Amino acid sequence: MKKIEKAAKLMAEQASLFWCPICQKNIHLEGTAVACNDGHQFDFAKKGYVNFYGKPSPLDYDRSLFEARYEVIQRGMYDQLHDKITEWLKQQFSGKLKILDVGCGEGSHLKKILDGMGSQALGIGIDIAKDGIITAAKYHDNVLWTVADLAKSPFQMNRFDIILNILSPANYLEFSRIVSPGGAVIKVIPNKNYLIEMRDQLTDKVESYSNQETIEHFNKHFSTVTMETINYQWKVPQSLQGQLWHMTPLTWGKKQQEEFSAITIDLTLLIGQNV
Ligand SMILES: [Zn+2]
Repeated sequence: MKKIEKAAKLMAEQASLFWCPICQKNIHLEGTAVACNDGHQFDFAKKGYVNFYGKPSPLDYDRSLFEARYEVIQRGMYDQLHDKITEWLKQQFSGKLKILDVGCGEGSHLKKILDGMGSQALGIGIDIAKDGIITAAKYHDNVLWTVADLAKSPFQMNRFDIILNILSPANYLEFSRIVSPGGAVIKVIPNKNYLIEMRDQLTDKVESYSNQETIEHFNKHFSTVTMETINYQWKVPQSLQGQLWHMTPLTWGKKQQEEFSAITIDLTLLIGQNV
């Protein structure tokens, strides 16, 4: 089956999660396009995703960043984070989970978590960066990848059990509208030593980073919040030195001074629920 057909099949199965981002009416499939009852249409791309945005992406990323990120994450840079999330999901929920990754980029986090869940989850990835979604659709099958803007949401109310928001901006109003009752929002934010080896090589590095405000903001939106720190050193494979440097906009246009033997992963995992 071609990628475009696979994406259309996934959309047909999951159409009840979506609505038209323009008029909020139900959507259905018309061949390899999505259409609403008012005649708005959104096309599937040959590369295997659906585009609800329809304009050029406003984000100035490029494919090489997402390719680099894919390779590094494949090799396990965030495995301990993914394992922690998978473990928590399996403890807390039974039955098949609908997981939405908001700001999924090239989709590696979502795919790793879905793989960890086995057949217990289905995933949808959304990003406004089209290059990220193209890369996601290139590497990861069996996930519905969508280019969309959460401010003009293509999602129905209360349909998702889990919203993932990993190292990406949040939209809490929209999260609370689309998460199901009893569901959870899982957000991952950097702590001050995250990728510190990389930032030490940059001349204009930020000296006093704090995520306190982000944590307080998150807490305001949920009745129950679980918080955990994840801190480890990841041994960098020699063959991935270049990819590691290019996987973040932080280093754009800057030259790598020396190679990394290991890199620090220092993150806070926030899980919010309204129960
Ligand atoms: Zn419409």
